[in-house]
Amino acid sequence: MRLIIFGPPGSGKGTYSSILKEKLGIEKISTGDIFRAEVKKQSELGKKVESYLKQGLLVPDEIVIEVVKKIIDEKKDNFILDGFPRTVNQAEWLINYIKIDAIIKINVHDEILIEKISGRRVCSNPNCDGNYNITDIDKVIDGIHYKLPSLLPKNDMICDKCGSKLIQRDDDRPEIVRERLKVYYQQTKPVEEYLRKKGLYFVEIWANREPKFIAEEIISKLSNR
Ligand code: ADP
Ligand code: ZN
Repeated sequence: MRLIIFGPPGSGKGTYSSILKEKLGIEKISTGDIFRAEVKKQSELGKKVESYLKQGLLVPDEIVIEVVKKIIDEKKDNFILDGFPRTVNQAEWLINYIKIDAIIKINVHDEILIEKISGRRVCSNPNCDGNYNITDIDKVIDGIHYKLPSLLPKNDMICDKCGSKLIQRDDDRPEIVRERLKVYYQQTKPVEEYLRKKGLYFVEIWANREPKFIAEEIISKLSNR
């Protein structure tokens, strides 16, 4: 199955796609994770993209597409794209390059995003996708009941998967988060409109409960297709 997971920064895309990766046995392709790992390694690619990531700005399309193309060529039939496409250009390239089966669209209110992002902690090991959250949310907004307990590691600030230290991402600081949300609404929302116009199949989910429930809901909606 070839999937895209789509939604604002902090909507839990990374967590859901890690669960879907395990449950569906598909590869997770996260452009953000790839870029962050390259920056840590200070590879040639890492040096090229570092300043964009630091400022919460998008990496130029040519660079992103080259990276994604290489991985899609290897993984071909079973993947979930997390963080790509993020511009109409990227979306146009993708749907002309390969057939996408479904787009999982995550809905969540901004207020929740900001709270959740500030509580996010990630594994400091560049080869690990460990993802946690220290914020606990239980409130209703516009009739949507958000019940989002924290996602704590078993040992304080240590990754369950690999034992490395947990850290806050540089771009999870509030001023950068606001910039990322602005970028999302300006450049990424049009991607959704574009893909809907092109007739792609959308599965919509409100991210108001624990990731494992959301992942189950996604799988059940995908299989009802
Ligand atoms: P978010 O939590 O904001 O969705 P990601 O981890 O997906 O963050 O991405 C982090 C950063 O990596 C982005 O702010 C951007 O600089 C860069 N990036 C990731 N994916 C793309 C993409 N498809 N196009 C351009 N830049 C990207
Ligand atoms: Zn880890």
